[in-house]
Amino acid sequence: MEPVIPPKGTILERLAAENGVAIVVVDERSNEIAAVNNNSMCRLLYPSTDFGPSCAEYCGKAFERANAAGGPIEYECYAGLTCKAFPVDGSGRPLVAIVGRTFVRSANYRKATDKAINGDWRRFPPSEFFDNVILSGSSNQLERLERQLEESDKSFLDDYVKQPKKARGKTAAETEEIQAFHEKPVTDPFESSLLNYKLEPESKAEKKPDPFESSMVNATIDLSEALREQDQDLADREAWRVFIPTLLKVSYRLACRRILEFLSRHYGIESSLWLQREGSTFEMAAVLGDLEDKPIRIEIPVDDKRIRAAVRDDSPIVLKELQTESGKRPRVIQLFPVVIGGEVRNALGIARENIAPELSARILKFCRYVASRLEILRLRDAVAEQERTSRVLKEFNDQLRNIGSESYWQRLTGLIAQLVDAERASLLIRGPAETLMSKASIGAAVDLAVYPDLGSRVARTILEKGKPALVKDVTKASLSSVAAERNYRSSSFISYPIILGETGIGVMNFTDKMGGDQFSKRDLDVLDSIAPQIAMALDRVSLQERLGEFAQLSVTDPLTGLLNRRYIEERLDEEISRSSRSGEPISFLMLDVDEFKSYNDRFGHPAGDEALRIVGAILQQNLRGADVAVRYGGEEFSVLLPDTNVEEAEAIAERIRSHVERTEFPKRKVTVSIGVASRSSEDGDVAELVLAADKALFRAKESGRNNVQVYDQNLDGGENVH
Ligand code: GH3
Ligand code: MG
Ligand code: MG
Repeated sequence: MEPVIPPKGTILERLAAENGVAIVVVDERSNEIAAVNNNSMCRLLYPSTDFGPSCAEYCGKAFERANAAGGPIEYECYAGLTCKAFPVDGSGRPLVAIVGRTFVRSANYRKATDKAINGDWRRFPPSEFFDNVILSGSSNQLERLERQLEESDKSFLDDYVKQPKKARGKTAAETEEIQAFHEKPVTDPFESSLLNYKLEPESKAEKKPDPFESSMVNATIDLSEALREQDQDLADREAWRVFIPTLLKVSYRLACRRILEFLSRHYGIESSLWLQREGSTFEMAAVLGDLEDKPIRIEIPVDDKRIRAAVRDDSPIVLKELQTESGKRPRVIQLFPVVIGGEVRNALGIARENIAPELSARILKFCRYVASRLEILRLRDAVAEQERTSRVLKEFNDQLRNIGSESYWQRLTGLIAQLVDAERASLLIRGPAETLMSKASIGAAVDLAVYPDLGSRVARTILEKGKPALVKDVTKASLSSVAAERNYRSSSFISYPIILGETGIGVMNFTDKMGGDQFSKRDLDVLDSIAPQIAMALDRVSLQERLGEFAQLSVTDPLTGLLNRRYIEERLDEEISRSSRSGEPISFLMLDVDEFKSYNDRFGHPAGDEALRIVGAILQQNLRGADVAVRYGGEEFSVLLPDTNVEEAEAIAERIRSHVERTEFPKRKVTVSIGVASRSSEDGDVAELVLAADKALFRAKESGRNNVQVYDQNLDGGENVH
């Protein structure tokens, strides 16, 4: 019988789609002659000049290594992707297929996304980088895929060998099936999540029949039933295939909602909610149907064995409403944890008394499928968000340079409001005798902050506690009457304390989130990340205002415009006690210009002064918002780096050192030596930190100048060593 040969060029696409991974075929020169459903990260990293060489160590050597082994090799590349490579025979021409390029371990996936968000891979546009990230529950399918490729007729490879690359079919990104990690237990224990529902008594979860037992009882197989299931499966998949691409075009939030709408359309689930894991808790991402009218809070200890059981058995956790309006039956939510990459990332809640196991199996399959896509959306949005934040932060820092101008408070407040999408914001600063003075307000004149009772009452409490408040829905909180009176378009607000060292110096209030949304934990995170900058800025402006220009002069160095030693000594005290409380590290740099005496001697004092000004400017340029650079005296400078560990401090020092070295000074080359010292919560006071940095500086000088040294107790003879 003639073998049925599928149309050329489609086998790879079909296999890649079926297995949900990439298939790449390389020739003896490691050229990719075919790439189907390729991982978007690989698409960008492989050809790049910076990362390509790392790829070359893995996929670039696949041809050689698989041929040397004469069979399959498996490896995890530097990006953390699992790949399998094996020789395939393309009509006599030796080729190697690389399959996979998939994240099997969730830790690797997280590491990679972290690099894309904060690290080396930031330069790639998130929309492209996350366009087709591949995740798998295990590497099992790679073996299967190897077999399938082995068994398939490989004449189709001729096509690829002859054809230019672009002529190939499009990727099958949308048809990936991603398996959940059932064999792995849920390792990350999350503590609890929110809900005013409680767990049903345990008995329910345990009623599930033993799968072995039931398979023995059902000795006869109902074929029609199996076929029906298969049809249904195909219909489901077809529906998903149409649905999923529509998700990729919308924001993460909207996508969550769309999922619930799809469940309603396709599976007839009218009332549902979608939760996303947020650190150790679940947060509500979307609600649909009946559940929409009532705020829902869920409390589930995550190490509860029923969560694990639910994951293991594909069965829901049954939650019952705690309080009900009189006469009404308590509502029931069936909660399905959704696992991707070995972690419970989401959960779907369905408000129904019962769900047929067959339907819940179909829904769960869909959830797993969609959750992995969703995770990519979430990360894509997180990256885009990060970009936006860093843009605004940069602007924020630029604005800080213009301290003292008339509209400064107003501009500062406006800028921060923009960061959290608040249409109204206000800033209150602690004045004399514990008063709170309104310094700026954005948006309509009346808001929570300037409303005399509520605004200052809330602000005062916030300032006392030193902790921000995020109220998602004022009408549900005890402040309801005021909110209603004031006619807020959105009923959510944030009140955020500004704390410098030990002291609360002000409060910022935000209301009316744009688009009528509620403020979220993310908005608090944004504020957290700029809080030190805000505090610094406010401190300097209020210092200036309090003391007038004359006093400001006394903490400013007239030559460089940097702050002076007097200021840093005060600040160091505060920062050190803050770091003791928070446990955050703090670092200190001591910098001395090399051979500066001869610079002065040869070119004169004014030229020396000019050089010092340039060094001061370089310092400024290399610091982040909360860092403080001062002229310590003479040709010595120092830098205080709050919340900075020793590695980061060393990197900053090195950046400063090399920046000075590369800069053209008017007369001759100038270099600096830098000593770095850090302090974690337990040890040392101000004097010790300064002394440690000084000792490290001394060693930098000894080691030939123009270098950075980190304080080392053993080398620098710390006092604690006897
Ligand atoms: P090294 O630090 O590499 O050991 O050598 P050095 O030549 O820099 O060492 P030293 O501390 O002996 O010299 C510091 C010189 O810096 C002394 C003085 O001429 C110069 N200097 C200090 N303060 C100022 C200043 O305000 N303006 C100018 N123009 N020069 C200053
Ligand atoms: Mg000196
Ligand atoms: Mg010197």
